[in-house]
Amino acid sequence: MNVDPIADELLDLLEESREYTRYFAELGVETVPLPAALATSPSPRAPLTASSVAPSAPPQTPPRSEVTKPAVRRPAVTAAQPTAPASLFGDLAPAKPLFTQSKESMEDIWRDIGDCTRCGLCEGRTQVVNTHGNHKARLMFVGEAPGADEDAQGKPFVGRAGQLLTKIIEAIGMKREDVIIGNVNRCRPPGNRQPTLEEAAICRPFLFREIAAVQPDVIVVMGNTALRNLLEVREGITRVRGKFQDFRGIKVMPTFHPAYLLRDPSKKRETWEDLKKVRDYLDALPPRRD
Ligand code: URA
Repeated sequence: MNVDPIADELLDLLEESREYTRYFAELGVETVPLPAALATSPSPRAPLTASSVAPSAPPQTPPRSEVTKPAVRRPAVTAAQPTAPASLFGDLAPAKPLFTQSKESMEDIWRDIGDCTRCGLCEGRTQVVNTHGNHKARLMFVGEAPGADEDAQGKPFVGRAGQLLTKIIEAIGMKREDVIIGNVNRCRPPGNRQPTLEEAAICRPFLFREIAAVQPDVIVVMGNTALRNLLEVREGITRVRGKFQDFRGIKVMPTFHPAYLLRDPSKKRETWEDLKKVRDYLDALPPRRD
């Protein structure tokens, strides 16, 4: 053991920095932009390699001047549709009527769901898996349906895909407690098959009610089931991912499902690019007053 406290501290910092780098590398991040304060011309955004990221520095936000502030979405129900700003966040599909601010609480919605038997999925499930997380979250994640771990524990995204999702959330400088996570369907389909269109159509209205209650600023839809149940898009996730869409006045970022990333880790890089856009959008919003 080293008796020099400074050397000890340096060794700790080094180990912490290695951990942090490993964690980013696992997510597929190879470069991060240089912090604005260190950036000097002629190459102000020269990338650092992941191996030179400082120990506890969160992923760097681009300088504010590079992020055009998006129009604030707080609900003005009858207002004209927001015009798409010519910015990072301008690649929006045409907007549908805005969500009205719901007076329902999440508990009201879950009471209504109860011990649901509205579709056949109830027969094979252990329990209903409701949306979980911060009811005032600015960021919501939506997946497909619970798997075996979620069915056993009664919470969404707690298995391997969920652990990767936690890392993705942390990579954008947030914690799981900051966000809210749900699924299109709340009961585990037999053998983890995709929910049918009918099963999804029966369950989805509860998710919509939750979205109206939480009013997140951004929803990340993960995979094709979530994408197609929130948005009327013909293309699949591979084509739509990374481009902000609109769901009744709420920005939606489609990206790959973490279970797909476990099967094809090379796609983590694209997911990281998508999530950076989400982080930059949220960072550019004014603080909420509620
Ligand atoms: N996959 C999903 O789509 N949802 C979960 O909750 C877990 C895995």
